[in-house]
Amino acid sequence: MNAPTRQVFDIAVIGAGIVGAAIARDLAGTSLSVAVIEARNDVGDVTSKANTALLHTGYDATPGTLESRLVARGYHLLGDYAARTGIPVERTGAVLVAWTDEELQALPALKDKAERNGYHDCSLIGAAEVYRQLPDLGPGALGGLTVPGESIICTWTTSLALATDAVRRGATLLREHAVTGADVSDAITTVHTSRGDITARWVINAAGLGADWIDQEFGYHRFTVTPRRGELFVFDKQARPLAPKIVLPVPSSRGKGVLISPTIYGNVMLGPTSEDLHDRTAAGTSEAGFEFLLGKGRGLMPRLLEQEVTASYAGLRAAIDHKDYLIEIDPARRYLLVGGIRSTGLTSGMAIAEHICQLLTEAGLDLTERPDLPPPPKMPNIGEAFTRPYQDAALIEKDPEYGRIVCFCERVTAGEIRDAYASAIPPGAWTDCGAGPAP
Ligand SMILES: Cc1cc2nc3c(=O)[nH]c(=O)nc-3n(C[C@H](O)[C@H](O)[C@H](O)COP(=O)(O)OP(=O)(O)OC[C@H]3O[C@@H](n4cnc5c(N)ncnc54)[C@H](O)[C@@H]3O)c2cc1C
Repeated sequence: MNAPTRQVFDIAVIGAGIVGAAIARDLAGTSLSVAVIEARNDVGDVTSKANTALLHTGYDATPGTLESRLVARGYHLLGDYAARTGIPVERTGAVLVAWTDEELQALPALKDKAERNGYHDCSLIGAAEVYRQLPDLGPGALGGLTVPGESIICTWTTSLALATDAVRRGATLLREHAVTGADVSDAITTVHTSRGDITARWVINAAGLGADWIDQEFGYHRFTVTPRRGELFVFDKQARPLAPKIVLPVPSSRGKGVLISPTIYGNVMLGPTSEDLHDRTAAGTSEAGFEFLLGKGRGLMPRLLEQEVTASYAGLRAAIDHKDYLIEIDPARRYLLVGGIRSTGLTSGMAIAEHICQLLTEAGLDLTERPDLPPPPKMPNIGEAFTRPYQDAALIEKDPEYGRIVCFCERVTAGEIRDAYASAIPPGAWTDCGAGPAP
């Protein structure tokens, strides 16, 4: 795996999160050669694996921003791609709940904002309807706004599907290659990595939490990433009937706020917090975050707190000092920055890739799609609402390994593990190497 290469790639994409994987997939569908350079030993292993995994409609984005446009577009692109590849999605819908008079009064403006974002399906509902849709909600809800399109998705399968597609289309995935520097010359850029140099004509920086450091290697000092930690609780699957829909708070200037959401794996999730840090590797949970979430949960849905918490985790948003996505092309240096994809990148990733292809085309690259592309991969289903291998009698009849359960909590079978090792991106050994060192 990951042998050093002397090839000069047409394009090197730094970062194999959802954004880098989506970009690599699109570019690998052309006649250009593509390398994906990733510090970790797996794809989607940083922010893309630790989020709330909602497929957002974009109803609450700031109208007129690039983020608003790309989230709305990404919602449809990823929804369609999920249907073709088997990425599990459940169209649960969401209810945004007002708990104070001030929040209640803010709801019509949020509906209006959704419409300015091109989303026309929201409805204002009274308290009785809120409790009809969410009977286990705590007391005190005054009204709500429905967002029927908000959905839950598997974030892990999304990154893996896009990266698998990229590799099957011919992209070279270089894992455990932390980028430490770059030298731009007339026709070629040399990217220095922990495992040797990679050369490419164009470089795309999709390094998430490390994007500002890489940007400096290209002579820029235009933004700083501040890791904004979001901690979450995961409740036992027995809690799932309590949350038939996503329960959203009224958003504030700090972000989308603490929500309750069913997960695609049949659990219920409470979070995330929002806390600015300095350490870009501090993706652990904290006692303060635990207490804060307990307090929030008690108000939102006391019955949820009677259920067992089976896991907690945290993700780091790549927040930057700029209100919109920061996507800029530098044709002279043959360099493209994809920065500040903080709270919505799971949804928008495929639309970001489409936008980048447009920028590269305007810069003169021929991105005509090859006629001989392989079909998109069929991903193994780990969603609870769809048939899992251990439940599929016909499959087990053909291959008894799918009937041999090795993880009794999540019902993972020996057949699925065997398939993962034989896949285009087999699992690597676990190493904790942070978000990639500073160049
Ligand atoms: C708590 C939380 C909740 C969220 N909820 C949602 C949600 O519900 N819906 C939604 O759409 N979005 C959500 N998001 C946002 C979404 O998760 C991110 O926008 C998205 O994952 C960003 O993807 P990325 O590829 O840009 O970054 P990442 O996934 O971080 O990928 C960047 C990659 O670059 C690599 N890298 C960094 N530096 C280097 C280097 N020097 N050399 C080589 N590789 C390097 C990293 O290892 C990493 O794999 C949430 C985020 C958080 C934290």
